[in-house]
Amino acid sequence: MTLEIHPGDIYVVVGLARSGQAAASRLLSGGAVVRVTDTKTADALAEPMRALQFQPVAEGGRLEFHLGGHAEAILDGARALILSPGVPVASPFIQRALALGLPVWSEIEFAYRLLGGIVVGITGSNGKSTTTALTAHILQQAGRRAYAVGNIGTPLTDYLVHDGPDTIYVTELSSFQLETIETFRPRIAAILNITPDHLDRYPSFEDYAAAKWNIFRNMGPAEAGILNGQDELLRRGKGQVACPVYEFRSAPAASPAEVRGAGVAGETLYLNTTGEPVPLMAVAEIPLPGRHNLENALVGALACHLLGLAPAAIRAGIRSFRALPHRLQPVAEVQGRWYYNDSKATNVDSTLLAIQSFPQKLVLILGGKDKGSDYAPLVEPIRQRARQVLLIGAAADKIDRALPPDIPRRRVRDMDDAVRTGLEVSEPGDVVVLSPACASFDMFNNFEHRGDVFCELVRKLKQEVEP
Ligand code: ADP
Repeated sequence: MTLEIHPGDIYVVVGLARSGQAAASRLLSGGAVVRVTDTKTADALAEPMRALQFQPVAEGGRLEFHLGGHAEAILDGARALILSPGVPVASPFIQRALALGLPVWSEIEFAYRLLGGIVVGITGSNGKSTTTALTAHILQQAGRRAYAVGNIGTPLTDYLVHDGPDTIYVTELSSFQLETIETFRPRIAAILNITPDHLDRYPSFEDYAAAKWNIFRNMGPAEAGILNGQDELLRRGKGQVACPVYEFRSAPAASPAEVRGAGVAGETLYLNTTGEPVPLMAVAEIPLPGRHNLENALVGALACHLLGLAPAAIRAGIRSFRALPHRLQPVAEVQGRWYYNDSKATNVDSTLLAIQSFPQKLVLILGGKDKGSDYAPLVEPIRQRARQVLLIGAAADKIDRALPPDIPRRRVRDMDDAVRTGLEVSEPGDVVVLSPACASFDMFNNFEHRGDVFCELVRKLKQEVEP
C-alpha cells in the first residue's frame, strides 16, 4: 500500500463510468474531496450521480460535480487525477494536468496503490475475459481467495474490501488502462496476443502495442511474464522485459521440453517452468471449444502453476469451468443438435474462430448491423464446414452478395425464425451456432441482449419439440 487518503485531500475523477464511480466512493470513504468531471451533462448521468450521492462520506470529505465539460479550475490543489479508460490521455484537459505536473492514474493504478494482495494482470486483443474468468475459477476451486476483476465488469477498487496478503486479483486490463500506470506491478502478467484494434484511439499499431507492453514495465526478477510464443511481435519484444518470461504455444511441439512455459505435445497439455515438463491434462478435457480456448487454458494453467498450484488442482479447475455467456456458450441440445450462443462475435475474425472450433457440420446464423466488414474470408471455411447459412438482420443482403451461389443459405425473418429454421435444416449431431460477424444494434440493445434472446428462444423450442 503506497497511497494514504487523508481527509480534505483533493482528487479529480475524470469520467463517471463504473471505474470512476468506484474510485470516487473509495476516496469519499477516506474523507477526500472528490471533484467528478465528465463531458456528459447531469441529465445523462442522473443514475451514477444518484448512486454516488448515497455513498458514505467520511469527515473532511465532499462530493462535487463539474459536468458538461472539464473546467481547468478544478485542477487547483488537486493531488491526482483518476482517469476513466474512455477518456484519451491526449485530450486537452489531461494534457493540461500533465503539464502542471499532476499525476494522472487509471483506476487500476489508483487501486494498486491501496492494496496489499497479489495481482495477476491479463491483457491482449482477444481472449482477455475468458482467460481472466478461467484463471480466477481455477484458483477459487483450489481454495484460494481469488477474484476476476477489472475490464471484465467490476472495478478492482470495488474488491479492496476483500484485501489481505493472500487475496489474488485476477485483473483484465485494456490498453487504455495500461497507458496510465505508474507503480502498478503485477506478480504475474500475460499478453495473450496483439492484433490491430482500437486504431481509432492510437496513432499507429506500434503505439497500441506499446500500451500493452506497459504491463511489464515495473516487473523484475520476483515476478513472471507470460507471452504468446507463436506471435512474432511478442517473441521479438521478449528481450526488453526485466522479469523471467514464459511462453505458451497451442501448436503441437515435437517434445514437451520444447516450450518453456506451457505447450502441447501429442494430445497432452504440458507445463514446463523448470526444464522438467509435467503433463497436465488431455486437450479433449478442456470444456471450451476451439484452438483459441486451448490458448486461454494454457495461459490460465501457467499463471496458476506460477502461483504454486499443483497440476491436479489446475486440471480440476479447467475441467469444471463453463464458458462465459455469449462466447461459444453451449445453450441446449434440441433433438440431437447442439445450439451455441456466440453473440459476442461481432466481427469476421471472431466468427472465423467459431467456425473452426467445431468438427461437426454447422448451421451458422450470420448477420446483424454491418460494420463495413469484408465477409470474403468466411467463404472457404463456410464451404468446408457449414451445412447451411441463415441470414438475419440489416446486413443479410450484403452477406448474401458476398457468398458464392454454391453455398446454401436462407433468409430468416427474426431470431425466432432463425432458431426454428436451424432445427429444420440441420441433422442430428450438427451444431447450430449464432456467431453473427456483425453488431447487434439493428434489432437489439447490445450483443448481450441478442444472445439472451437467442438462448431463451432455443430453450422455448426445446420445450415445444421435446415435451
Ligand atoms: P476479450 O475480453 O479480449 O474481448 P473474450 O474472452 O471476451 O475476449 O473473447 C472474445 C472473442 O475473442 C471470442 O468470442 C473469440 O472469438 C475471440 N477469442 C477468445 N480467445 C481468443 C484467443 N486466445 N485468441 C484469439 N481470439 C480469441
